[in-house]
Amino acid sequence: MTDVWVDGNELAGPLRELFAIDVTVARGRCVGCGREGMVAEAVVFDRAPGLVARCPGCDSVLLRVVRGPDRAWLDLRGVTCLEFALPDAP
Ligand SMILES: [Zn+2]
Repeated sequence: MTDVWVDGNELAGPLRELFAIDVTVARGRCVGCGREGMVAEAVVFDRAPGLVARCPGCDSVLLRVVRGPDRAWLDLRGVTCLEFALPDAP
């Protein structure tokens, strides 16, 4: 019988490609109101231990980024999906 799933290592190539680009030009959809827009349009608060990006439409938290000395945390729970424009696959 053929396995119908693979482990998370399968994500390495596609995610490396996505996160190597400028994510602020990606389009996202807000969980709170469904508004779609570029990440760069978010309202970002930077007077906390990290950055908090809120939706300009409904003020819901879209994402949080915290950078520590040797690691980072990314919380995307306020975004249903991110759409990236990429060059054609080789
Ligand atoms: Zn919203």
